[in-house]
This record gives sequence, structure tokens and C-alpha cells, in this order.
Amino acid sequence: DSVFASVVQAPEDPILGVTVAYNKDQSPVKLNLGVGAYRTEEGKPLVLNVVRKAEQMLVNDHSRVKEYLPITGLADFNKLSAKLIFGANSPAIQENRVTTVQCLSGTGSLRVGAEFLARHYHEKTIYIPQPTWGNHPKVFTLAGLSVKTYRYYNPSTRGLDFSGLLEDLGNAPSGAIVLLHACAHNPTGVDPTSDQWEQIRQLMRSKELLPFFDSAYQGFASGNLDADAESIRMFVADGGECLAAQSYAKNMGLYGERVGAFSIVCKTADVATRVESQLKLVIRPMYSNPPIHGASIVATILKDGDMYTEWSVELKAMADRIISMRQQLYDALCARGTPGDWSHIIKQIGMFTFTGLNTSQVAFMTKEYHIYMTSDGRISMAGLSSRTVPHLADAIHAAVT
Ligand code: PMP
Repeated sequence: DSVFASVVQAPEDPILGVTVAYNKDQSPVKLNLGVGAYRTEEGKPLVLNVVRKAEQMLVNDHSRVKEYLPITGLADFNKLSAKLIFGANSPAIQENRVTTVQCLSGTGSLRVGAEFLARHYHEKTIYIPQPTWGNHPKVFTLAGLSVKTYRYYNPSTRGLDFSGLLEDLGNAPSGAIVLLHACAHNPTGVDPTSDQWEQIRQLMRSKELLPFFDSAYQGFASGNLDADAESIRMFVADGGECLAAQSYAKNMGLYGERVGAFSIVCKTADVATRVESQLKLVIRPMYSNPPIHGASIVATILKDGDMYTEWSVELKAMADRIISMRQQLYDALCARGTPGDWSHIIKQIGMFTFTGLNTSQVAFMTKEYHIYMTSDGRISMAGLSSRTVPHLADAIHAAVT
């Protein structure tokens, strides 16, 4: 008998499990709106032209070898990533107060950050929004932090519960860590306005709460890389400290390359140097050093003016297609006279719409219409196309009437 005979079958991941169920479905009209990966109008995955170009350049450069990267990753990539998120003229960068390490996409960046905080920060409690990306509580708990939530979403308005948010952060113990989605909040698609961000910043700084930004969608939300980094830059501009996890999965379409960066903005260059030395001790026993290919693609694109421009144009096209899907779905529901107010579909931003459909309505849509999504009613707008909008609108209409 196996020494593992007592191992019990684990449940599927709630998000990735949606795709497992979808793959088993034989229906020709099946539609996967579960996983957050961009699809073209034809429903196909997209590799950006600028990424193909960068890969070609890398392949043709025979001086490139397959040696290990340093523990902290590709130096160019780290510098360029910090510039991308904090801004080209960020004083924090100029003052050498930022340490950036290449990590395994957004998830790996969050994990490295969490491990660092668990070892070196005095307050072990992290507040995450309610709801949030399903992996957040697991990543932080396993790193040794204690997870609490703050109110974020108001189901009755399908918008931000701003007073609840301020009240909960106001009651958090001084020094607590607060996870903030930099833009395109997942799963709700609801972001604070600039004025609200400013109030959050003031409250957090006055209570010495430590901001940990998760930036998985820079440029993907509005189509503008700077606009989508505005929240983070407000917190850096006040001279205070913060952490940021960056992912290139969505905005460069590099999902499977696992390329991301983790940064800590410190008060002084001296602190930043010591912090980086400890980040290496966090990383080394986890995976030694990060992979070279994805980071090389990103660095190639970010350091060349023309390629950077080409990327921002392709990125905006992805964001615009998603925004147009919102409008098309909203129009289709209006045309059907579907009961209820669906304006949140066009008000929300980013990859997802939090439809407000409940678990049994979701189950109904899967069973009768072969439409797959997470049970909280979140749909990926990036998985939708002009061709599939009518089918989805029919399904939503049937589910609510
Ligand atoms: N944070 C949020 C809010 C996300 O939505 C995602 C992707 N679904 C991630 C982090 C991390 O993704 P990845 O590890 O693929 O970069």
C-alpha cells in the first residue's frame, strides 16, 4: 500500500477549477468567463507583436547564455520596473530609496513581500479588502501574517463602501499592513476615486498603517500606464514607505512566463540597502533565483523608446476592447429589458465585472447556457467578444427572470 494512502482528494482551486469544468463541457456554445486571461475578438489568446519582436531579438543575440541570474533577478529589469510603477521622475528612485527584486509574477512578488514582512516588520496583521482575489488570504497566511478584512464593496450600490472602508482602517491597530489593489480591483472592478484615494492616504499615514500595493493590471484598466499607477504614486510622493507587487501577466500578456517585481520604497538609501540584503535571504531558500526569459523580454521592451511606445499602443487596444465589451453587454441587457439596474457593468473597470448574480444564478447559467464563471458572479470581460455577448445576455436575462 502507498505510504500516501491516507492523503485525501483536495478541492479544485475555486478560480482555476472553473477552467477544469469548462474543458470537460462538450457544448459548442460553451463560454469560459472564469479565468482572467485576455482573449481576442476571435476568442484566442494574444501574444503582443512587441513581445514577439523582443523574443526574436533575444534569440538572434548569440552572446546571450543561460547562466543563472542573481538572487534578485535581472538588474535592468528591476530598474525599469521601478520606473514603470513609480514614474520616470520619481524622487524615491533618484534618492536610491527603492529596492526592487524580480519575482515570479504577481503571486511570487506578494509572497516574497509577505515573507519579508513576517520576518522583519513589527506588526503581523494584514488587512485585505472584502472581497478580494481568492489567493490573497492564502498567500499571506502561509507566509505567517495574520489576515483581517476591511469593508470594500457595497452590494446594494455595487460600488465602493467608502465609509465602511474608512471606519475599518480607522479601527485597525497602528502599524498594521493594508493590502490595496492599485487599480482594477479584483473581483469587484470598483476602484476609489482620486479624492477617495487621497482620504485613504491621509488616514493611513496618520495611523502609520503600512501600504502594500498589489498592481496586477497597470495600463490594463484605463489603457494608460501612468493613470493606473496614480494611487501608488500618491503614497510615494508623500515621502512615506510602501510596498508594491507588480505583475506583467496581464499588461504584457506574459502569463506563463511568470514575470513580476517586488519593490519596497524606504525612507533612506541606507535602509533600502539593508532591506535588499534581507530580501535575498528570503528568496534564496525558496527558489534560488528567478527565470531569465520573461524578464529579458520585459527589459528589452521597456528600455527601447520605440518598443515601449508600441507596447503602450497594444496595451491600450486590449483595455479598449474590454471597455467596449462592457458597453456591448450593457446595451444587450437594456435591449432585452432585463430587469434591474446594470449600469455597474459600464462603471466598473478592469478585467472583471462583478455582476451581482448569486451562486444559484451562476449555477443555472452554467447548466443551461454552458457559461462558466466563479460562483461569486464575477465574469472576465476579457473572455467576451461581440460574437458571444448575445449568448451571455440571454443567459443573464433568463437567470434573473
Ligand atoms: N493580484 C491580483 C489582484 C490578481 O488578479 C492577480 C491575477 N489574477 C495576481 C495578483 C497575480 O497574478 P500573477 O501571479 O499571474 O501575476
